[in-house]
Amino acid sequence: MTRRTVPRTDGHQLRRVVVVGNGMAGARAVEELCLRDPDVLVTVFGAEDRPAYNRVLLSDVLAGKRRHDEIALTAAPGRVVQRLGVAVVSVDRRTRTVTSSDGATTPYDALVLATGSTALVPPVQGIAGPDGRLLEGVHVFRTLDDCSAITAAAGSAKRAVVVGGGLLGLEAARGLLRHGLSVEVVHGAGHLMETQLDPTGGAVLRRAVEALGVGVHLGSFAAGVTGGRRVTGVRLADGRQVEADLVVLACGIRPQVHLARAAGLAVERAVLVDDLLRTDDPHVYAIGECAQHRGTVYGLVAPAWEQAAVLADLLTGRAAAYGGSKTITRLKAMDLELAAMGDTTPELADCRDDVEVLVFADPVRHVYKKVVVTAGVVTGAILLGDLSTAGPLTQAFDRATPLPAERLHLMFSGLGTATEVDPATLADDAVVCTCNQVSAGAVRSCSARTVAEVALATRATTGCGGCRSLVEGLLCPTPALERRTA
Ligand SMILES: Cc1cc2nc3c(=O)[nH]c(=O)nc-3n(C[C@H](O)[C@H](O)[C@H](O)COP(=O)(O)OP(=O)(O)OC[C@H]3O[C@@H](n4cnc5c(N)ncnc54)[C@H](O)[C@@H]3O)c2cc1C
Repeated sequence: MTRRTVPRTDGHQLRRVVVVGNGMAGARAVEELCLRDPDVLVTVFGAEDRPAYNRVLLSDVLAGKRRHDEIALTAAPGRVVQRLGVAVVSVDRRTRTVTSSDGATTPYDALVLATGSTALVPPVQGIAGPDGRLLEGVHVFRTLDDCSAITAAAGSAKRAVVVGGGLLGLEAARGLLRHGLSVEVVHGAGHLMETQLDPTGGAVLRRAVEALGVGVHLGSFAAGVTGGRRVTGVRLADGRQVEADLVVLACGIRPQVHLARAAGLAVERAVLVDDLLRTDDPHVYAIGECAQHRGTVYGLVAPAWEQAAVLADLLTGRAAAYGGSKTITRLKAMDLELAAMGDTTPELADCRDDVEVLVFADPVRHVYKKVVVTAGVVTGAILLGDLSTAGPLTQAFDRATPLPAERLHLMFSGLGTATEVDPATLADDAVVCTCNQVSAGAVRSCSARTVAEVALATRATTGCGGCRSLVEGLLCPTPALERRTA
């Protein structure tokens, strides 16, 4: 993240903060606020009727790798008024109050919108009844309730169709496979995960996904959902019919902006915010997936958490500003190792003179690696099927450190032999946990002896969990070679 220090604009310290949304961004903002100033009076409204949980790990819950109670987020340490199962229904900016679904009115000095997104339901024939309810057997995948509903349905289903072949769709497909279902992914674009991958990377990923037993239909749009009382299949735009007794929609997200819009705040794709995360009303802020900063609406947790930290600084009188985030995406599905970062699409034909594109493809072994270097720094990368250099690559990308002349170490550790990265060799400033921006040095110096203690001291491993093995390696620095031959 680009986090700047700027002169304080005023010395005023806000006392009553109302946070709308108890998801990943809202809960973190509350925690960061309480850590900085336990005297701030925080009220958080959560439309979901449960304490905050780690949404990113819902894929693990669906796959049966974690239980519901294992994905709870840390409770904030201060005097927080939690209004769970209560939605804010309107904002009166003139009186600086919000009205909630239980009829109560709550005043604020600062209002934080952290309303996130809802799952996009495509306008597909037959998908929902006149009351807007999805046809029985058709589900979105956004909340713990959705996850429970899909898991319950998977118990009696035989054939599933996942509509959408992005990160979420593939994680859902992998999860359903673990329930013993036959699974097919229907994806409109010409290759999987087209936001993160180039066409060749997408083609290698398709082979890897198919090798797991998932059917893939590319360039295929769902035109209709068939079935009377409950779903029997998906009709594709080209007329083909894919049978299914369970359909999971993973077609994208839509920022929840109706509250902001009704309050007269400036909204484009999401609520517009400046570098101080303020909307066009200086008393109203927005963070997470409902915020649009410098034209970007992030759909990942790391930017939401970075914004939460900056906001907490600002609301407790500290000088800070948010300059945008660098995004790193990891697929969390078992047997599918994938990390992608930055812009991975410049193609050799139209490259500028200072753009280098390094590519290695081994489709048979489901390995694809691409590193894009612009003016001597990493500006994009894909690692599929072998994450052995993910650590140094992420660090080089995140810090924009000028690279030495030798580039291959970014693609191959041990040059040619695929070896796991040895945590003992990581520089202290190497970012280990990208969700929480925790460095190897922070893990080494926190005097923890277990992963749980590291999580408590630094928050590493508490996001997507992809850094767990690195953290374990840092706690127990056995050389990689010894570990492999032990
Ligand atoms: C299955 C799954 C896997 C994912 N995997 C990854 C991943 O690997 N890596 C990654 O970076 N990201 C991942 N994401 C995305 C990540 O979860 C989101 O980017 C993150 O949750 C955004 O946080 P948020 O607080 O903005 O929104 P949310 O977490 O959606 O929280 C918003 C909350 O606000 C509540 N709310 C909305 N309106 C109101 C209102 N009016 N009053 C009260 N409450 C309200 C909602 O009910 C919700 O609880 C995944 C998402 C899903 C669903």
